[in-house]
Order: sequence, then C-alpha cells, then structure tokens
Amino acid sequence: MPDGTRILVVEDDLDVRNLLETVISAEGFEVQVAGSLEQCRTIMKDFDAALYLIDVGLPDGDGFSLVRDLRARGHAGVVVLSGRSAEVDQVLGLELGADDYVTKPFRSRELVARLRALARRVAVAQGIADSQQDESAPDFQVAGYNLFLRGRQLIDPEGNDVALTSAEFDVLVALMEQKGKVASRDQIIQSVRRRNWTGNERAIDGIVSRLRRKLPTHETGPHFIRTVHGIGYMLIG
Ligand code: CA
Repeated sequence: MPDGTRILVVEDDLDVRNLLETVISAEGFEVQVAGSLEQCRTIMKDFDAALYLIDVGLPDGDGFSLVRDLRARGHAGVVVLSGRSAEVDQVLGLELGADDYVTKPFRSRELVARLRALARRVAVAQGIADSQQDESAPDFQVAGYNLFLRGRQLIDPEGNDVALTSAEFDVLVALMEQKGKVASRDQIIQSVRRRNWTGNERAIDGIVSRLRRKLPTHETGPHFIRTVHGIGYMLIG
C-alpha cells in the first residue's frame, strides 16, 4: 500500500490537476485525472478506483453529487478538495459521506499522508466485506436450495431452514458433491462413512425418498434427485 491503489482525481484547474497527478503518482498510486463530472463518469466506466479526490467547484456542477453517488455505491474512499473553508463546513454539515477533506492551497505531503491513510482504511473495509461475502456463500446449491457445511444447514428457496436428520444431510452432501454425475449407492455409502455413519443400500433408498419429500421443487417434471436405475442417483440442477 498504496502500490497500485487506483485513484481518480477530479479537478478542473489544469495546474492543480497536473500537480496532483505528479505528486500522487510519485507515491505509487495509479492515477487517472478528469476535468469535469462528465469526464469523471466516463473514466469511471473502465477505471475501478479505490479512492476519489474530488474538487467541489467543477464546470458542469458541484462535486457533491458525485460524492453522494459514490457513497451509495459502496467502498470507495472519497476525499473532497475545496477552495473555500465555507464549503468545508458544508461538507461536514451535510454529511455527504466524504471520508476526508483538504482545503486549497494544500501541502502535498499532508495530502499524500491523508490519501495513504484512507487507502489503508478502504483496503481493510473491502477485505472485511469480501470475507463476509465468503462466509455467507453457500457450499452447494441446487434448485434454489442452499447448503452450508458450516452449521450443517439447508435453506429452502423461500429462505427457511429445512430440518434434516444427520443421515439425510450427509446423503444430500454426497449427492451435491457429485452434482451432474451419477452417484452409485456404493459411492454414497462411502461418502457418508467418511462422516461416521454406516448405512446400507436400502437405507440410502429410504433416505433419498425422504429427501425428495422434504425438498419439494416447483418445477414440473421429475425431482432434481433423479433415480438412475440399477446404479444410484444423480442430482440435476
Ligand atoms: Ca475548481
């Protein structure tokens, strides 16, 4: 950090813009610059910035609308660059969601220090968001059902918990692991044995028919747990 951290600078004053670009890229940031809101919105389509440095007074509007948009979108860090201290009051008073502000004229070293600090905060927030995402992602999915190995939980398409016995859950996992392929009764038994459960072929058949009853499907046609005659079962979805 901030090596390669992407920052989009929006400033209409050419001299200030060039200075910002030089100073910030010298710190290892990947910088793109825009001279107007319109230019900024065009660049944003291809440039996924982690940080934005936004001048308040721009030729085609004020930077506040952009701050609001960015805040609504998520995790980008926003620093407002303002020419007048009255505008700074406005930024704070309206709580538009900027993370920091810098008044002009600014000292390069201070500006860079603030950008570095914000880049770290954004990276941490992004990391937390990613890990939450990972934890909430199901391990297996079929026909709108979500299976979570952690907590041994099955959630139906309406978001309700499905109560399964330990054996039913283990057989369902065995089928999920083989999704789209035929799982022989013997393979299912082997898989379930790894989970400290012993069963025979007839027991597997009984568990599968209970699973079909407990996991209704709204689609017409056969259930997503198909019988493959003489071999075993296959999960389709
Ligand atoms: Ca300006």
